[in-house]
Amino acid sequence: MKQLEEIKGLGPKTKCSLQRLGVMTSEDLLYYYPFRYETLKKSNIEELKQDDKIVIDGNIESIPTVFHINRRLNKMNFRIVSDGKLLQVVIFNRSFLKSRLSIGEIVTVIGKYDCKHNLIIANDIRLGPLPKSPRIVPIYHSYSGIGGKQIQSYLLQLFSDEIDVVDYIPEGLSLKYQFMDKVRSLKQIHFPTNKHSLKTALLRAKYEELFLFMLKMNYLKKEKQHTNGLKRDVSFAYIEEFIKCLPFSLTEDQLVCIKAIYDDLNGKKRMNRLIQGDVGSGKTIVSFVAMYMNHLSGYQSALMVPTEILARQHYKKLEEIFEPYQVNVAVLTGKTKAKEKREIYEGLKNGTISIVVGTHALISEAVEYKNLGLVITDEQHRFGVNQRSNLKNKGITPDILYMSATPIPRTYALTIYGDMDVSNIHTMPSGRCPVITTIKKNEEIREVLENMYKELKQGHQVYVIAPLIEENEKSDLENVTLLEEKMKKAFGKLYQIGVLHGKMSPKEKEEVMLNFEQNEIQILISTTVVEVGVDVSNATMIVIFDSERFGLSALHQLRGRVGRSNLQSYCILISDSEKERLSILTRTNDGFKISEEDFKLRGSGDLFGVRQSGDMQFKIADLKKDFEILMKAKEDSEVYILNGKIEEDIILKEYVEETKILS
Ligand code: ADP
Ligand code: MG
Repeated sequence: MKQLEEIKGLGPKTKCSLQRLGVMTSEDLLYYYPFRYETLKKSNIEELKQDDKIVIDGNIESIPTVFHINRRLNKMNFRIVSDGKLLQVVIFNRSFLKSRLSIGEIVTVIGKYDCKHNLIIANDIRLGPLPKSPRIVPIYHSYSGIGGKQIQSYLLQLFSDEIDVVDYIPEGLSLKYQFMDKVRSLKQIHFPTNKHSLKTALLRAKYEELFLFMLKMNYLKKEKQHTNGLKRDVSFAYIEEFIKCLPFSLTEDQLVCIKAIYDDLNGKKRMNRLIQGDVGSGKTIVSFVAMYMNHLSGYQSALMVPTEILARQHYKKLEEIFEPYQVNVAVLTGKTKAKEKREIYEGLKNGTISIVVGTHALISEAVEYKNLGLVITDEQHRFGVNQRSNLKNKGITPDILYMSATPIPRTYALTIYGDMDVSNIHTMPSGRCPVITTIKKNEEIREVLENMYKELKQGHQVYVIAPLIEENEKSDLENVTLLEEKMKKAFGKLYQIGVLHGKMSPKEKEEVMLNFEQNEIQILISTTVVEVGVDVSNATMIVIFDSERFGLSALHQLRGRVGRSNLQSYCILISDSEKERLSILTRTNDGFKISEEDFKLRGSGDLFGVRQSGDMQFKIADLKKDFEILMKAKEDSEVYILNGKIEEDIILKEYVEETKILS
């Protein structure tokens, strides 16, 4: 196969530009796929509206005239006749084509149609007529100023020689699916001949990419399962006893999760498990049981949470539940006072503290554990906790438990959690009634206030969420203050109103939260700091201002602050726009469905702020559309590993081993 250097017309400058696109070798160039395709089909002028896209061919009717506007910009005008209709064409910076556009010549013009002036503002002119059958044109990203035509001319030169690429799909699977040959598929992708062949080619390429990805994931998962963890030997009777003493009876799903964790912890291999469950499904208590079991085995547990408020809340509950067992619990956050901090560090180092809950401070360099056996992260994506390696822990590898209420769409979960075991809590604790959600306009605020009053009158509490602030706008504080004034005007005489925002000190926040928990405050005006985890079951209404500014999943999380008891709860979304998108929330309380919608609407790029790791950027597969292929690839790769076939497959073995080093 030709090297990049051997391609005609590809000079050092272009080579540099290609490198910036990640194209280092001619093989990379083959994998520099078009990001979409365009079908060139003749437009019917009669049907076009102002500024519609137009594709048309016709005979040149006038000698082109060129105007040089400045050194860099020139404009060319000419006329064509297409099906007896005369059209003006204007195109910029193509004066070099002038000599080839003689009268009578047929050209294809692609551009925007200005019907008022019967003018085409062209962005492309091709010599010759449109092909008889519609032609499919690949469109490449033109970063670095390398155009699609240029890329194709290089590719043509590559394809004129023998192509030398590795086919990663094992033969058996290739046969099973009757896949197109790899070289042919690559050629189709860059130079499609017809729709059907292109589809078959794309399918093959997507499968290969997803198969490799899932193979890697499954391989890593298997490797992890072979990492020895701590072996504990706790009788389940103790766990049962502990569960019996809880203030409520656990749901079936909670029990199933606990059993899975129990088996993990008692088993030889290291635990690497994710508990997924919608907001309010009761994940916290499951983690408490895990910590109890870990404690019985003589190890320390660390529970890591994303916010200060949540840390304090969990700490209170931990103290309540563990008090009778005389387990020493501590809370550690970035804001903990120096003196207290030192005491906690000491306690963790000498082992007098059994359970510690906190923010990222837990894994800061300074913290040393005597024998940390279990690390739990609540409401946090694992990509945020890569600092795990900071744990100073006397050479013990702790078991890991993740909890996530952010419902990850199935597709996405498979990729980011592909190397973990997953347990699901599907059902809510019994007696819960779904939150009733409505959308109101700003002008309907009276009605909203009346609804709030109805709840307050019954002794319930209400959250009011201030609009989400974008940078360069007025500060959160202003927003919250404005809302506070409004609420004071309406309810100030009857109820206590509290305010919570990011700029407050931890102590102030804690005080407000405590007052809200103890119903000394009935209306809590807050920014999204209450988004995750906060648990006050007497709150039965949440009113969210400017709700169009939030993603659906974030709104669902906020809504999860209510409906945490047997009381009927309500969520009012205030918004003057995007009614259609928001209405999804009025129709379902199922976080998974909502996140699928969010995923469809917003794509994975900014989904839940999960950082995209390089691993997850696919060249040709699209997780939104290629779920079925992903599932096949998942099954096939699992079987391939299970059957031990990978051990005999030099190419794939090398591939996974290589990625193992990188991961
Ligand atoms: P999340 O899964 O969102 O973290 P929590 O663990 O905060 O949910 O639980 C929500 C509320 O439900 C808490 O007040 C918790 O005490 C309560 N809860 C959890 N499990 C049960 C259960 N089996 N029965 C009744 N209430 C429960
Ligand atoms: Mg929680």
